[in-house]
Amino acid sequence: MAQLTRRQFLVGSVAASLVLGLDRLAFAGPLRPDRAKPPLYTDWRDVYRKRWTWDRVARGTHTNVNCVSSCAWNLYVRDGIVWREEQSSPYVASNASVPDFNPRGCNKGACASDLLTGPSRILHPMKRVGPRGGGRWKRISWDEALGEIAREMVDTLAARGGEGMVCELGPEVDFGPNTVAAMRFFRQVGAPITDSMGQIGDLPIGGTITLGLPHTEGSSDDWFRSDCIVLWAFNPSVTRIPDAHFLNEARYRGAKIVSIAPDWNQSSLHADLWLPVKPGSDAALALAACQVVVAEGLHDADYLREQTDLPFLVRSDDGRFLRESDLKAGGSDSVFAVWDEARGRVVLAPGSQGSTNPSLTFPAGVKPALETKQTVKLVSGKSVAVRTVFAQLRERLARDHTPEQAAPVTGVSATAIRRFARTFARSKAALILSQYGSCKNYHSDLIQRSQILLASLTGNLGRAGGGWRSGAYIALDGMGLLAMQEKLDLPHLALLAAKAKLDPEGVRRAFESVYVPSTLFHAVHGGLGESLEARNGDPKLADGTGPYLKKALDAGWFPMAPKPGAESPRVILSIMGNVLRHSRMGDRIKDTLFAKAKLIVDVNFRISETGRNADILLPAAGWYEKIGIKYVVSFVPYVTLGDRAVQPLGDAKPEWEIFARLAERVGAEATRRGVGITRGFNGEDCDLARLGERFSDGGRFGPEAQEEALAFVLKLSSATKGIDLAKLRAEGGAVRLASLGPQGGTAGIFSEYSQSEPVVPLRDFVEKKQPYPTLTGRQQFYVDHPWFLELGEELPTHKEPPAVGGDHPMTMTGGHARWSVHAMWRDQGLMLRLQRGEPVVYLNAADARQRGIRDHDLVRVRNDLSAFVARAKPSGAIRPGQVHIFHAWEPYQFRGFATHQHLAASPLKVTQLVGDYGHLKWGYAHYEPNQTDRDTRVEVERVEGLA
Ligand code: SF4
Repeated sequence: MAQLTRRQFLVGSVAASLVLGLDRLAFAGPLRPDRAKPPLYTDWRDVYRKRWTWDRVARGTHTNVNCVSSCAWNLYVRDGIVWREEQSSPYVASNASVPDFNPRGCNKGACASDLLTGPSRILHPMKRVGPRGGGRWKRISWDEALGEIAREMVDTLAARGGEGMVCELGPEVDFGPNTVAAMRFFRQVGAPITDSMGQIGDLPIGGTITLGLPHTEGSSDDWFRSDCIVLWAFNPSVTRIPDAHFLNEARYRGAKIVSIAPDWNQSSLHADLWLPVKPGSDAALALAACQVVVAEGLHDADYLREQTDLPFLVRSDDGRFLRESDLKAGGSDSVFAVWDEARGRVVLAPGSQGSTNPSLTFPAGVKPALETKQTVKLVSGKSVAVRTVFAQLRERLARDHTPEQAAPVTGVSATAIRRFARTFARSKAALILSQYGSCKNYHSDLIQRSQILLASLTGNLGRAGGGWRSGAYIALDGMGLLAMQEKLDLPHLALLAAKAKLDPEGVRRAFESVYVPSTLFHAVHGGLGESLEARNGDPKLADGTGPYLKKALDAGWFPMAPKPGAESPRVILSIMGNVLRHSRMGDRIKDTLFAKAKLIVDVNFRISETGRNADILLPAAGWYEKIGIKYVVSFVPYVTLGDRAVQPLGDAKPEWEIFARLAERVGAEATRRGVGITRGFNGEDCDLARLGERFSDGGRFGPEAQEEALAFVLKLSSATKGIDLAKLRAEGGAVRLASLGPQGGTAGIFSEYSQSEPVVPLRDFVEKKQPYPTLTGRQQFYVDHPWFLELGEELPTHKEPPAVGGDHPMTMTGGHARWSVHAMWRDQGLMLRLQRGEPVVYLNAADARQRGIRDHDLVRVRNDLSAFVARAKPSGAIRPGQVHIFHAWEPYQFRGFATHQHLAASPLKVTQLVGDYGHLKWGYAHYEPNQTDRDTRVEVERVEGLA
C-alpha cells in the first residue's frame, strides 16, 4: 500500500475539516441570502479563506448538558453560523493562595458547534409513519404538531386528570427559562414530572443517611488546600476535565493523591497510591481504614463527641437509641441521651430534631463519654444496659474489619490499607471525593456511610481542604418561583424569595408537589419487576423487596408514587433526557409504559433512543441558538451565560417558546370543547381553559419572552443578586456568585461565603455548631429504624454485592467516557474518531485469553436478563473478573438494539424505602430508591460468524 507522507496527510486532514465545515453551510442555508447576488460560499476554498474571520463574538456555554460543569466560551459567528468556540477566561482566583479556575472546558465543548450541525440533529417537527421505532417519519408543521398534541392532552386531562400524563424530565437541565418551561407547564396542568436523580442512579443516599444531605461539596480550588485527596470511584481526568487541574496543582504543592478503583483508570495514572479494590467491596476497605485509625488512636475524640452521634447511648435490649421518652413520661422520641463522664450521669443531647436547643454545644462542664457501658433505669421501671455507638463501632471494627480480614475481600493488601489509613489520618487536611460513581452499587449507601465515617473519625468534615464530598449545586430561588408561582408579580415574589431563603424545606416541598419518585414510578408502570425479585437483592430478604414496597406505599411514605396496578399514563412527554437509554432495563419501559401510551412526544435537538420510539418529535433549539444559563455547580462558584448567538436551525425553537405555544393551544382546545377545571395528580384544580394566559401570566412572559424570563430568574435569585445579562455579557460570560443561595435539595454547602475564599462545605455545623438536618442533629452513623436493624445495617458495614442478573462469573462495571457527555456526543464523528467508533467492552487480558477473545473480536455479554454484542478490548488496566463498558452508547449503536443497560436489574434496596424516620423520608433528590448497575453479573463469550 502506498505510504502517505506527513505533508500529504496534513493536507488531507485540512481538506477533510473544511469539507466538514461545508456541512454546516448545508444546514444553515445562508449561502445565498440575496438570490440576486453571487453565493457567499461556493466550495471548500471559500470556507478556508474565511476561516479566521468573524462578524462578532458571542458568549456561550453548553446549557442542556449534564456534565457537572460550567464553562464560559467565546463563540465566533459569521454569516449566522457559529464556526468555532474558544474558551473564555473570565475566572479569577479566589485569592492569591490558590490557583484560578481557568481554563475551563472540555473536548466535547470544543466541538459543540459541530454537534449542532451533525446528522442526528432534528430540524423540523416530525410525525411517525409506520410502527413505533420503525425509523420512518414525515415532516409536519408546528401548527399540526402542537394541534395534535393539544387535542390528545385535553382528551386525557378531561378524562383522567393529571395522572393521565407524565413528563419524563431528564438530567440535561439548565437553570434558565428553557428547563423552567417544562416544569411550569406540567405544574399548571397538574401532571407529574419524574425526578431524574434516583432514576439515573446519581443520588448519594449514604450522604442523606449520615449528614441529612445527599449533596455536599465546595469549590474545586479548595481541593488545592488538601494534603491527601482520595479519588474514590471518581475519574476526574475523564469526567471532570475543567476541574482536574486543581488536583495536579495540589500534587505539585505536595498533596498525596490516592485512587480507589478496580481499574487502572486515567486518573489512577496521576495518583501516588492506587488501591485496585474489587468491585463492590469499597465499604470493606473504608472500614478497615477506620479500624486502623481507631486502633492506633488517630481519631479526633473531641470532634466526635460534638459533631457525631458516636457518644449517643444505645439500649442493649432492642438496639434502639436511649431516648428522652425512655427516661421520662411524655418525653420526646427525637431527643437522645449521652453519658456525661465528668459527672457520671445521663444527659440529654441538644440539637436533635426534638430538642428545643438548636445547637450542637453541650452545656458547660458536660463531657459526653465516647466509650462507656452503664445500666440506666427507664421510666417504665425497667433497668437496661446501654453503651455508646462508638463502643459498638470499635468492637465491630476490631471483630470484622481488620486490614487482614479486608485484604481477601477487597483484593488490596493489609499493608496497603494501613498505609492508606495512616496517610489519610496524619494529613492536616484529607479529602474524599466520592462523586456519582459511588452511587451506583446496590450497597452504595453502606459504601458512602463508611467513607464518611473515615473522614469524620479524622475530624475532616467541615475543614478547608478536607471532608467527604459528593457534588452540589447552587439553587437559584428565582428558577423555582418561575416554575411554581402562577403570578409573577415582582414585589410579591421578592417577598416569597426572601421567605424561601429562610425556609429551604419550603422550597423542597414546592418541588415535591410536582415530582414523582422516578424509580418507583417505573417499578410500577415500567415493568421493572426484576428490581423487586429476591434473586437480585440482599440474600437476607427471602421474599425480595415486594413486601417492603407494599408496606411503604400503604403507609403513605411515597405520597406521589403511583399505586401498584394503577392505570398507565396515556401521554408521555420526554425532555432533556433519554429515558429509554438512561434507565436500567429501558427495554422493559419501552415494552410497558411506552407500549401502553397513546401519544409519546420527544422534545430534543437530536434523535435519541427515546425519540426513535416516540410519535412526534419537536425540534428544540441547540445551546447556541437560545438564551439560558448553565446550572450552577459548586465547583466553580460562577453563573455562566449561554447567549443566543445565532437563530435556531431549521424550524427548531427554544423550549420556553415551545411550551408557551403549547399552553396557548391546550387552552384554546379546552375552551373550544368546554373543558374547564381538571384535576391535578396531586389533587389541585387546574384551569385548563386559561392555560395560555396562566403560563404567560397574562401575556407578560409570552413565547418570545425568553430573555425576560431569564432576567426574572437572575433578579429573583439571591445567589445572582446584582448580576444581570448586561454584566454577564460584558464580563466574559461568567460572573462570580453573590451568595450561595438557599440550601437544601441538591444544594448542600451550609457555609458562610466570601468571594475571596474557596468554598468549604459544612462549616456552619462545625464552626457555628448548627445542628445537621438529621434525626439526631449530628452526623448520624447509627440508624435504629427497624428495617436497618433487621438487615444488620444500623452501623456502616460491608455486605457482599448481590449477584444481580444471575450467578455469572464476571462483574460488569461502567463509568462516563472521555468522548461524550451521556449520549449526546456518542455518535459525533470527531469524538468517534478518538475511540473504537462503536460499543466496546474492556476486559482483563487473562480473562480474554481464557475465553479465546482477541482484540476487536465481537463478544456477547450475557446474563439471565438479556445479552448484547460489542467489540472486545483486552487490557491489563482492567481487574480480573471485571468487564468494563463506558457509559451512554445509544441502543441504536448496538446490533439488535440490545445494550448493557438491559442486563442491569437494578434491585430496589429496602432501606431506601423508609419514610418514617426523622430525615429518612422521601424528598425530591433527597431520599428514594436509587437505580444501580455496578453489581451486574455477566459472562462474556466470543461471537462466531459476525464481523
Ligand atoms: Fe464545560 Fe460541560 Fe461544555 Fe465541557 S460540555 S465545555 S464541561 S460546559
